[in-house]
Amino acid sequence: MQDFLDARLAERRAQQLYRKHKVLAAAPGPVAEVDGRTLVTFSSNDYLGLATHPDVIAAQQHGAALGAGATASHLVNGHFDIHQQLQNKIAEVTGREAALLFGSGYMANVGVINALVGRGDFVVQDKLNHASLIDGGRISGAQYLRFAHNDLEALEVQLRRAREKNSGKILLAVDGVYSMDGDSAPLAQMAELCQRYDTWLMVDEAHGFGVTGSAENPSAGSAAVAGLDQHSAPILMGTLGKAAGNAGAFVAGSRALIEYLTQFARTYIYTTGMPPAVAAGCLRALELMQQQPLRETLQQRIDYFRQRAAALQLPLENSTSAIQPVLLGCEQTVLAVAERLQEAGFLVGAIRPPTVPAGTARLRITLSAAHSEAQIDGLLQALVPALCAVEAPA
Ligand code: PMP
Repeated sequence: MQDFLDARLAERRAQQLYRKHKVLAAAPGPVAEVDGRTLVTFSSNDYLGLATHPDVIAAQQHGAALGAGATASHLVNGHFDIHQQLQNKIAEVTGREAALLFGSGYMANVGVINALVGRGDFVVQDKLNHASLIDGGRISGAQYLRFAHNDLEALEVQLRRAREKNSGKILLAVDGVYSMDGDSAPLAQMAELCQRYDTWLMVDEAHGFGVTGSAENPSAGSAAVAGLDQHSAPILMGTLGKAAGNAGAFVAGSRALIEYLTQFARTYIYTTGMPPAVAAGCLRALELMQQQPLRETLQQRIDYFRQRAAALQLPLENSTSAIQPVLLGCEQTVLAVAERLQEAGFLVGAIRPPTVPAGTARLRITLSAAHSEAQIDGLLQALVPALCAVEAPA
């Protein structure tokens, strides 16, 4: 076994794809202490700055009085009043009848897809979907069809193909906002296709929840932006580890869907419930999303970053979300630029295959309402020479 492990790890290193943990020491705000140095982080998904918000931390500490852990699965002995309150708050924020908590977004996606479809059914997915949707689809035993990223014609071809072969269930699962590209799915048109081909639409709101929404449900996510309701987007998955700054996830939808998942989603049933303190912290975070102009501040920071980057002629992608990738292509280049940024005091994700397709390695810059304009200026001022240095090595 040792030989096998050594060989596979050596291969990863040779391909510049070896991943290492950065060990962080605690620091408040969009900063982290790495190897004794304080860095400004542009690599977290804490889009609203709620991970270190004093009210959230206080609520979580208070919640810990209920016990450090849930002590059992939700359906056995691990479901407290605070879980119920959080589920009700999520339903309110997303504009859905009900919601169900999961241990993580990964577990929610795997659980929902497997509860809804299986052998004899079809699951249709965008090629750039998150790994948890892809894995959920693969495990389900449903026939698995993919389409080119955000390509509505290619999607229709797959839906037609599935419908012609099948009189049963078809599930279309897409990210609302793509985690490594920051662009959005054309959800309104997708919902129309779903209606035409009698297909259920599942939207992964991991990067939309808390960040974007409609006038009525301003934090609900991308489906709300596209004007989709419980009927046209019946299955919403959202994580609590990103804009909510915490951990865990949820599915929101009709009361019937939530009752069904409570009975049939194995990743809900057969796992320990969310720690009550986490539920208390998340509940406070969702209240803050409703009460404070965090989304507006984030939008200002995104606009500021894009305007300043454009003025500096930096290569930006077509993303208006908090995720601003800089595509560099080559793994080695991405690592070199990220290293230079770190030397200059900034932590930015160096994203390489298999997280993204081969040849599309990139910096993943993420913005937060907690960033100051000065921190954004600092990053951009460091990025220009870092990019020039790799383009024209000495
Ligand atoms: N879906 C998407 C689009 C994601 O980006 C992520 C997290 N990277 C997940 C699901 C998984 O969520 P979690 O981290 O809560 O497991």
